[in-house]
Amino acid sequence: MATTNDYEDGLKMIEELTTNAEQIQEQVLQQILERNSRTEYLSRFMNGQTDKQCFKTNVPIVTYEDVKPYIGRIADGETSNILVTEPVVEFHTSTGTSGGLPKLMPVTAEIHDQTTLCFTLLRSLMIKQFGDLDKTGKRLALFFAKPDTETASGIKKRTVLTSILKDPGSRAAVFKLYTSPIEAVFSSDNKQSMFCQLLIGLTQRDDVVSVGSTFATVVLRAIKFLEDHYEELCSNIKTGRLSNWITDAGCRNVVSLILKPNPELADSIQCICNCKSWEGILKKLWPKAKLIDAIATGSMSQYAETLEFYGGGLPIVSTVYICSEAVCGINLEPLSKPFDVSYTFLPNMAYFEFLPVNKDGTTTSEQIPFNGEPVDLVNVRLGQYYELLVTTFAGLYRYKVGDILMVTGFRNNAPQFQFVERRNIILSVDTDKTSESDLIKAVTEAKTLLEPFGFILRSYTSYADTSAIPGHYVIFWELMEKEDVDNTKDLDPMIMVECCCKMEESLSLTYKIYRREDSIAALEIRVVKQGSFEALMDYYVSQGAALNQYKGSSCIKSKDAIKILDSRVIARFFSTKKPLY
Ligand code: AMP
Repeated sequence: MATTNDYEDGLKMIEELTTNAEQIQEQVLQQILERNSRTEYLSRFMNGQTDKQCFKTNVPIVTYEDVKPYIGRIADGETSNILVTEPVVEFHTSTGTSGGLPKLMPVTAEIHDQTTLCFTLLRSLMIKQFGDLDKTGKRLALFFAKPDTETASGIKKRTVLTSILKDPGSRAAVFKLYTSPIEAVFSSDNKQSMFCQLLIGLTQRDDVVSVGSTFATVVLRAIKFLEDHYEELCSNIKTGRLSNWITDAGCRNVVSLILKPNPELADSIQCICNCKSWEGILKKLWPKAKLIDAIATGSMSQYAETLEFYGGGLPIVSTVYICSEAVCGINLEPLSKPFDVSYTFLPNMAYFEFLPVNKDGTTTSEQIPFNGEPVDLVNVRLGQYYELLVTTFAGLYRYKVGDILMVTGFRNNAPQFQFVERRNIILSVDTDKTSESDLIKAVTEAKTLLEPFGFILRSYTSYADTSAIPGHYVIFWELMEKEDVDNTKDLDPMIMVECCCKMEESLSLTYKIYRREDSIAALEIRVVKQGSFEALMDYYVSQGAALNQYKGSSCIKSKDAIKILDSRVIARFFSTKKPLY
């Protein structure tokens, strides 16, 4: 891990990697092919050859479903060189699902080293921006490791985060540099874990230099949890006694070692939390914090504004673009606003290719014509949209990750990308197709109508209700008042109807055409009561999602998830006029 003294080495390495991006990419591909051209999978296409041209001409572009049978055989314990010659030491479980189950991504020892290197580089960037925070205090990072599961043959299945936290080096770092006790991080009960992590984070409030988690949703969930539990947390701090419902032995043992009665501290926290408005609560509770360390790009960008409200001016830092398949890029400008963040690809992590796709205001991702061959990392063009393909050291070849990225610039010779959207997240009731970014744009425009009235859109999601003909778009909104956390102000129905109309106006041309032809019925906003999105998250976690990986979604399809939100609806509004185009 970088120290203050060697952080400059990390910065130097970033310069070298980005300058030599082309040569490094060539070497990475060469190494992967030399090691693996005789695997069962590659020899089908490469016939033992190892040159790039043969790879590009013969190896097909694939999705998870194509390689699933091979991965399944490795998971079942076959040790012949199926996809990769190195041993598969574990599988990363991805939140993208295949037939309702998490996808399994093979991991070799090398992948661990790459992840460690990526975090070393990130630390260098953070030291450059914020100074060596580890010398001035501790980080409050809400981490929730998932218990390991195993494949039929006994290979571990873990989330990327759990895998990082299991590493002995990371465990030691958590102990030293973070407020959260590792026992709480590894508790199998998320609620007890959250309580204990917040409790210890609060007792050390004057030492905390950053607040965060993996994704913005988890930080917001922690704030909601705090709203619901701050009196109890304060009472624990006052008396030095942990609540009886914390029964997890690891949590109890470690907290009882740290927790001492501190009535003065409890009173000051209680006083801050009793405030009518929770604007800036993070800064008030942790006054030395310099940043919120949580990814707020892509589908997380819908939470950026709410997080800013609670942050009281703290910058939200989205550090890394990483998936279960590979580490992809890092953010070289930690202070960029969430909507401006770009990730610079690290050419040593995998061999990256980019499939050009069309994207403009009127065309949705599903309508994008297939536009040519994939290009190499250094050959992408500024402003162009691409779908990402990875070829990894762990046996994925020309694999579609499912993400759409846009080139925003270059650092030396390495391109920088804005995360645009995940492919296939769409609303559709006819042949209209609305992508996630189309929906984000429509919601962003509509919610500005509510701002003068003191409302903030806390969370939203959507689904295409096709139970009646014609079908219509349903958008669930959870609203919150800026000034009054008890939410006593009434919503103005006229404004809400305006919001529905505004959304329709900013949707695609196809949508508007169908809407004018009555092939799509009026768009509906269903306002749900406070806490509804926590209930939704609880549901997904109960279904096996890892809290730290849960990103929410702009669109839900599960009947149960829709039912959860429907049972919490407090008002419904419909668009009253057809959109012009
Ligand atoms: P998982 O494999 O479950 O960890 O999910 C990986 C996916 O999360 C990626 O393919 C992206 O769609 C999304 N993701 C990861 N990092 C970011 C980021 N920094 N910004 C936006 N989306 C991200």
